[in-house]
Amino acid sequence: MKLLEERIRKDGTIRGTEVLKVDRFLNHQMDIKLINEIGKEFYRLFGDCGVNKILTIEASGIGIACITAQFFGVPVIFAKKNKTKNIAGDVYTSKVESFTHGKVYDIIVSKEFLGPQDKVLLIDDFLANGSALQGLINLVRDAGAELVGAGICVEKAFQPGGDMIRAMGVRVESLARVKAMDEATGLLEFC
Ligand code: 5GP
Repeated sequence: MKLLEERIRKDGTIRGTEVLKVDRFLNHQMDIKLINEIGKEFYRLFGDCGVNKILTIEASGIGIACITAQFFGVPVIFAKKNKTKNIAGDVYTSKVESFTHGKVYDIIVSKEFLGPQDKVLLIDDFLANGSALQGLINLVRDAGAELVGAGICVEKAFQPGGDMIRAMGVRVESLARVKAMDEATGLLEFC
């Protein structure tokens, strides 16, 4: 998606060779016009797949998922990062390793909101090592729901997540795929 690539070039910040900051427009301050175009594009890609639920992970996926869901006319569920050791009640649970902090945490979704009748589209801001997406996929599988695919805003294609998830047979559509980047040289190359 040219619009997103151009915006990353203009307002994104590269940290080292691994981290891309997009907090001026995507995951801290949010440019709603841009995210509206992102939602439209996800609908163009997945609109004919019978999606009836969008699933994301807190926190930065939520806003993007909500705007996207308006085009699909379906509810959004966000997997909660569980802070307590005791997992309360009737929930599906899975583990995610944080890309930014390296810590492993549980994510949960109530069984009330996901089940075998559901056709699920996953939405997230970034795809790096694939742990967040893998955690969401596990929740969908545990629920016996159908996974339609994943819509990602920014995939860092030089990290292994995209290849890993696609190798599982999951349809992954990333709107901007970063091939290489380097803070020192200013390199930012898209696939
Ligand atoms: P993964 O689980 O694929 O390794 O990482 C995905 C999650 O880590 C995303 O939900 C996102 O919040 C965060 N993340 C990964 N890489 C980056 C990055 O380069 N910049 C930002 N801002 N977040 C990232």
